[in-house]
This record gives sequence, structure tokens and C-alpha cells, in this order.
Amino acid sequence: MINGATKLVGLIGWPVEHSLSPAMHNAAFASLGLNWVYVPLPVPPGTVEAAVKGLAALGFQGANVTVPHKQAVMPYLDELTEAAKIIGAVNTIVVGGAEAHSRTPLRGDNTDAEGFIRALREGGFEPQGSSIAVLGAGGAARAVVYALLASGATEVRVLNRTCERAVALVEDFGRLFPQAEFMPLPLNPQALAEAADASSLLVNATSVGMWPHIEDSPWPEDLPLPSHLTVFDLVYNPERTKLLRQAEAAGARTIGGLGMLLHQGARAFELWTGQKPPLEVMRKALFLDGDTAV
Ligand code: NAP
Repeated sequence: MINGATKLVGLIGWPVEHSLSPAMHNAAFASLGLNWVYVPLPVPPGTVEAAVKGLAALGFQGANVTVPHKQAVMPYLDELTEAAKIIGAVNTIVVGGAEAHSRTPLRGDNTDAEGFIRALREGGFEPQGSSIAVLGAGGAARAVVYALLASGATEVRVLNRTCERAVALVEDFGRLFPQAEFMPLPLNPQALAEAADASSLLVNATSVGMWPHIEDSPWPEDLPLPSHLTVFDLVYNPERTKLLRQAEAAGARTIGGLGMLLHQGARAFELWTGQKPPLEVMRKALFLDGDTAV
């Protein structure tokens, strides 16, 4: 029951009404008997500063941040974790921190990287010593590349439609992980074929294939997809994307994006409440309604 002692967390984004995060977190709070509630917070572009400052003023314990505000919130936070700084994006804000119950400072973190690695390992892939092909060079791709390098991947090919963004990503991470090898590439069939042959994991961190464009795939129809690959698609709406269906048909191992959504949320839950997240309750809340997730 919501009462005067209820603690608040929310999701800052635009739009946010179709998000599955409220269902996932509210199921978790209920199962642990916590008097907390997670609410969608639609924040139109141009009002991000007021929204972030309002979190502390209104007594929120924290928030998640989603598209298109993951970078825009950063200037208004008091502290950034190492992961958030390196990735250059914030998906979780903690007000005060789990121990100190003061209203400030606002700390920005990024749990996408950890969520990705946990889902990858759950899917049976160990990144230590591996060669990876990452499609995309936006915020999610940066979280994926960081997570993989921090977990011991040794060779990373980054393919992006706008090749200059792949070059910039590779330059940033090359400075931080000088022991790893990097290749920025355009997102075309020849580069895809070469990168897939040389890699054991292919990650789609572009938004290609996302609802409503569910018949789109970053992998061309007429290009054979190597069966030795593990294919991880960050897109989770639909749950089985066209790319995953192509990979399955080719005999490759597949991992969908809902596992990453689950684990990034579980880590955020832990940061806000200081409690162990009830993973199976959260998983059930997400997978029950997978095809309508946004
Ligand atoms: P973003 O920063 O906007 O980056 C989008 C990326 O997709 C860019 O690399 C962009 O290439 C590429 N792209 C977009 N349309 C394309 C097209 N038609 N053809 C080729 N490339 C295209 O977005 P983001 O935050 O990184 O998110 C990317 C995807 O990951 C989204 O679908 C998001 O839902 C998903 N995601 C999932 C999770 C999860 O928990 N499963 C977490 C985070 C993100 P250009 O640079 O050329 O524009």
C-alpha cells in the first residue's frame, strides 16, 4: 500500500509508457515486502536538468535513465562512477547512495555493462581471451565494448553505419585497454563476413530490428551466417528478433536482449535498496510479456 513512508524510484526517458521496468521493479519490491514504488517519469527533451534536480527535491531514492537522456543527464550529477565515465552514459542514478540517507549527492552509474556480461555468461559464453564483433557505436555499444574488455576480450571489431563513430569508439577504448587489438569497420556485407569469420561472438548493439521494424536485420539476407558464432542481440522487442531467427536457422547459439534488461535492472535495484535482488521474480515479470516490451 502506498503511504507516507513509501520510497520512490522512477524511469526518466521519452517516451516511457511502454517500458517493462516498472513491472519488473514493482514485482521485486512486493516480493521482498519493501514499501517502495517504481514509476515512469516521462521527461521531454529540454527539461532534463529540472527533472534530475527534481529527483532530490522530491525525495526520490534514485532513477533509471533511458533513451534519449542517458548522456543528457550527466552534467547535472554530482558524481560519476568509473564505468559511467568510461562508457559516457548513465542508466542509473542513486540519490545519496545506499548507505548515506542524505538527499545528495546524485551519483550516476551505468549498469548496462554489468547486465550485458551477466546475461552473456548466463547464455554460456565466456569472454576471456575472445575475439568479438560489435555492431553499433552508440551508448549501448560502448557499454558492451567496455564490459567485454574489462572481462578479458582481446580482439574487438566495431562495425557501424557511420564509420567515424566506430573510429572514435576504438580510439577511446584503445587508450584505456592498450593490450587489446581493435578494428573500426563500416557496416557492410564484406566487413560483416570478415568480422564474423574472425570472431566467436557477434553482438548487435544497433537498434536495427526493433519494433515496429521487426523484419529488419543488420545481417544481410543473402550472406551465410557462420554457425560457430554466438549471436547476442541487445534488441528485446521483439524477444526473438530477425537476426536471432537467422542465427538459429544457421545453427549458431543465440542470446536475446531481455536477459541484459533483467540484469541491468537487478544491479540498479541493489544499488538503490542495498538488498539482494529477487532475480527469479524480476525475470518472471519481464518474460511474461516479452513481446510488448519497449
Ligand atoms: P544509440 O546511442 O541511438 O545508437 C544507435 C546505434 O544504432 C548507432 O550505432 C546507429 O548507427 C545504429 N543504427 C540505427 N539505425 C540504424 C540503421 N538503420 N542501420 C544501421 N545502423 C543503425 O542507441 P543505444 O542506446 O546505443 O541503443 C541501441 C540498441 O540497444 C537499442 O535497440 C536499445 O533498445 C538496445 N539496448 C538494449 C538494452 C538491454 O538491456 N537489452 C540496453 C541498452 C540498449 P549510426 O551511428 O550510424 O547512427
